[in-house]
Amino acid sequence: MIDLTITEALKKLNSREISATELTRAHLERIEKYGAELNCYITTTPERALSDAAASDARYAAGNPLPLDGIPIGMKDLFATRDIRTTAASHMLENFIPQYESTVSQKFIDAGTVLLGKTNLDEFAMGTFSKTSYFGAPINPWQLERKLTAGGSSGGTTSAVASGLAMGGTGTDTGGSIRFPASITGLVGMKPTYGLCSRWGCVAFASSLDTPGPIARTVDDAALLLSAMAGHDPKDSTSADAGFHAHTPLEPILGDGKKLRIGVIKEFSNVEISPDMKRIFDARIADLKSLGAEIIEVSIPNILDALAAYYIIAPAEASSNLARYDGMRYGLRVDGDDLIDTYKKTRAAGFGTEVQRRIIIGTAVLSSESYEVYFMQAARVRRLIADAFDRAFEQCDLIVCPSGAGTALPLDSDLSPLEYYALDLFTVAMNLAGIPACNVPAGIANNGLPLGMQTIGRKFDDMRVMQLAKHIEQCAGIDNRPTKIMGK
Ligand code: GLN
Repeated sequence: MIDLTITEALKKLNSREISATELTRAHLERIEKYGAELNCYITTTPERALSDAAASDARYAAGNPLPLDGIPIGMKDLFATRDIRTTAASHMLENFIPQYESTVSQKFIDAGTVLLGKTNLDEFAMGTFSKTSYFGAPINPWQLERKLTAGGSSGGTTSAVASGLAMGGTGTDTGGSIRFPASITGLVGMKPTYGLCSRWGCVAFASSLDTPGPIARTVDDAALLLSAMAGHDPKDSTSADAGFHAHTPLEPILGDGKKLRIGVIKEFSNVEISPDMKRIFDARIADLKSLGAEIIEVSIPNILDALAAYYIIAPAEASSNLARYDGMRYGLRVDGDDLIDTYKKTRAAGFGTEVQRRIIIGTAVLSSESYEVYFMQAARVRRLIADAFDRAFEQCDLIVCPSGAGTALPLDSDLSPLEYYALDLFTVAMNLAGIPACNVPAGIANNGLPLGMQTIGRKFDDMRVMQLAKHIEQCAGIDNRPTKIMGK
């Protein structure tokens, strides 16, 4: 039952061949077996899962199931869940139990899903390997004995979905945190258009970039999840009045004489990527051509400056968002000699090294002497990149590019902060521009590990971004069934 996709499971649930309770129990048993080793959940919610499943079964019995009724999912532990601990993988929020439900997690309740638990992540979603988690890093189920990273910051969700400890789940993507971890775990990870999914109740990192989105094993599954989580929310002022309603299976947009112009980013062709990534990317481009796509080179002149701009804008917004953790209202409090000392002690004890680094960088670039030379410059680069994407989309319908340079690295790789930041090279520009981008498994490298590539579109062209991803998924034909990956 573990290997079923969401699409397949919904069919079997609807025909009453399986029950939501059976499906949930199968996942809970697997969590019991492998959860500790994979470290993909910070908190599991077995009782809640079983009661969700019982409610689903009752709706199936009554003949009025909800769109995702009975599908067991993992929720990134950045989304506030009422009465369930929500930590953001930080010591600061280690014991925080929200009294409210985030819009996204509420939408999953409304769609009938079963909550298995809260998945691990980088502390406050800052990182690339989920190693900054206060609870230790999750592990990639591919070549388990090698202890590879499942990526970050949504690495708990990718670890859980790839290993069959959830059928799908949520991530958030501020600079690549859905797409990068999906790319090295053989999964589909969709960063929607900024504003398509509400940020309300999602612990803030960089508010102008944070984008909730789905992680699943197939594009159709991701489209089902996105349909549930998208939608306008008056509680988030940047929420867009545009939903996403996928009719799955997603319709082909290539083949049968259909025409599509697909852009390849010129500036990325000089970036060094692994020979495997190059071979696989070229092979998928050839596939798209043979399906009738016209491949066009497009230029995003400042795209290689995206990293520098991102690592100014994101910390700047983070430093301001994280000012709320002062030990006064909620979260950790370490008493000091006076108010200022309490602030200092609380924040020194509550935040890990990477979060402190971001707060310091962010505070520096927002200071009056640096604001114009750093923050405003970064904001200008951001504008240039967004405009260049607009111009590129006058020449082509969709764009493709790699999701990263290579396959998953061992968790104990000794990378400097700058080396970690550099891993976001292929993903951050789409956050700066606010446009949708989907990682789809594109091939298997010679070392047996998966590699992904991205499909990218204009704002609110999320549907076509996923439709193109589905073509690539079909051409790549990767077997990402959890029992195959885990060998058990
Ligand atoms: N790796 C990037 C960072 O550390 C992106 C994180 C994210 O998208 N949440 O900021």
